[in-house]
Amino acid sequence: MSKILLAGGAGYIGSHTAVELLNAGYEVVTADNYSNSCPEALKRVEKITGKQIKAYELDIKDIKALENVFEENDIDSVIHFAGLKAVGESVEKPVLYYRNNIDTTLSLLECMEKYKVRNIIFSSSATVYGEENPVPYTEQMKRGTCTNPYGWTKVMMEQILEDAAKAQKELSVVLLRYFNPIGAHPSGMIGEDPQGIPNNLMPFVAQVAVGRREKLTIFGKDYDTPDGTCRRDYIHVVDLAKGHVKAIEYAQKNKGTEVFNLGTGTPYSVAEIVDTFERVNEMKINHVYGERRAGDLPESYANADKALEILGWKTEKTLEDMCRDTWNWQKNNPNGYK
Ligand code: NAD
Ligand code: UDP
Repeated sequence: MSKILLAGGAGYIGSHTAVELLNAGYEVVTADNYSNSCPEALKRVEKITGKQIKAYELDIKDIKALENVFEENDIDSVIHFAGLKAVGESVEKPVLYYRNNIDTTLSLLECMEKYKVRNIIFSSSATVYGEENPVPYTEQMKRGTCTNPYGWTKVMMEQILEDAAKAQKELSVVLLRYFNPIGAHPSGMIGEDPQGIPNNLMPFVAQVAVGRREKLTIFGKDYDTPDGTCRRDYIHVVDLAKGHVKAIEYAQKNKGTEVFNLGTGTPYSVAEIVDTFERVNEMKINHVYGERRAGDLPESYANADKALEILGWKTEKTLEDMCRDTWNWQKNNPNGYK
């Protein structure tokens, strides 16, 4: 079976994707500098699957170190998860974000060309639809105007990858636009483990549940939505991971660039997330309403038809599963991987 390089493979989505790839019979090689993750996540993936991962610790910007991975392994396809992803931090440190996210992409493309690796799957984001496109987002829409440097790195990387595929006819580029990944592997052995104060809703809720944070602030209750709180397309990380296996199969058979939304197509509000978490896990989440957070759109959700039609992929897990699995991970690992 072919060997897949997961750049940033020790992270939240990478580790869950490693499980699904190993279960599907692929060999997995990871390259990660553990700037936002740890090797323990990969050890847990090995325990879940009973299979081995070949893990390299390196900065993907370091092209010599990266070439060594391609030299030592007959890589069939690359999945590029490696990036910095904190929206607020990207506003404070734009140069760090542009340098890291764009350079990792360029290093990977250069190595792929040198070692004749033809398939790359890229972790893009719904954020590329920007401010002006109406929901639900479809893949034919033009990329929009982003509200922060993180989003712009995704727009730029999509463009770079598309241009590479135009120039190298044998290249296959699959741009996966994730909506809001939450949840954890049902084993409770791997999950999201943010460093410091979580930026994202679900890890914050989970840390309130486990007693690490006193209360959740819901950002804004005067949006033009049914209950006044923002609505997002939350997707279980295991469903998302399975989408990558489908994307690999697609890339192996096709050339050029293709874009897919990976979402459920159903939006839920922040208040609904809190309610569902409380109901499913039989607990109260201490919360207050606060000001809107700068840059937040009222609504973001996918039209997920294209992934079903072309990849034969759709989500299977419910919001209840997402809330249950998040809590299962957090209660078994109150301090994450530490
Ligand atoms: P994550 O931070 O858990 O994983 C990213 C991994 O990349 C980490 O293990 C980190 O150590 C590694 N990394 C970063 N820079 C590196 C470098 N220069 N060299 C080597 N390794 C490096 O994040 P995640 O949630 O798993 O997200 C994976 C990808 O999906 C990211 O590109 C992210 O922008 C994108 N994405 C995530 C979300 C989300 O909500 N989680 C939504 C849309 C898109
Ligand atoms: N949110 C919130 N409180 C928090 C974190 C997030 O109310 O502590 C809201 C945020 O305003 C947005 C939704 O939860 O409406 C999802 O935010 P997240 O940062 O998880 O994802 P985003 O859609 O912004 O990428």
